[in-house]
This record gives sequence, C-alpha cells and structure tokens, in this order.
Amino acid sequence: METLSVSTSERVDLVDITSQVAQEVAKRSVGTGTVTIYVPHTTCGVTINESADPDVVRDIKMHLTKLVPKDGGFRHSEGNSDSHIKTSMIGSSENIFIESGKLVLGTWQGIFLCDFDGPRTRKVYIKIVEG
Ligand code: ZN
Repeated sequence: METLSVSTSERVDLVDITSQVAQEVAKRSVGTGTVTIYVPHTTCGVTINESADPDVVRDIKMHLTKLVPKDGGFRHSEGNSDSHIKTSMIGSSENIFIESGKLVLGTWQGIFLCDFDGPRTRKVYIKIVEG
C-alpha cells in the first residue's frame, strides 16, 4: 500500500489527484489489475468526475454546500456534522481498472480528493492489485 499526502486550501475543496495515482500505477509496472483509492478520514472522501471543465468542480462544491449547510441545526459538538454528511454522500473509496499499465478512465474523468473540513493535509491510501 502507498500513501499520498494531499493538501487542501479551502474548507470545501476538491483536489485532482489523477496524476499522482497514475504515477503510483506507473511505478509498479502492473499490466492488468485494479487500484483502490481509499481515504481514511471522516470528513474527507474521494470521487471520480469531470476534470476538463473546472466549473463542474465549482458546481459540485456549491451545490453540496447548499444541500448540507454548515449550520443545519446538528447536535455533533465538533460543529462539523455537515462535513461528515457530505463525506458519506461522496464515499471513502474508488476502484479503477488498470489495463496496459494505465488507469482506465473516460476522456473527461479525473479522480478527486474531496475535503469537507479543510484546509488540511489529508492521507490517501492506494492499493494496487495485479490480475
Ligand atoms: Zn466531527
């Protein structure tokens, strides 16, 4: 398992980690397999979505914030229940196929770390399995 360290710069921030994941895959020289990307945090997740138009990321951030506002009358004493809820909506892991040593992603797809309680430095675990 490999660990990436990813810094975010806003409370709600999506960071494109596609090239870092691709580098880990390239290092391992795996022809065919899968890569699991797992985020071990309760207020930060991972998703695959469009990386070509930055307005898509902007719209996702804006709409999630509107759907789950910070001050939603929650009980959790840390004051970050919205971050926990958004994380559960997005999920903590993604699996991607590897073919001919490369990530199988659609033309417009990228992998994003989604921080909902930043800015912070987050961990991303990467497990590559051959086969
Ligand atoms: Zn909390």
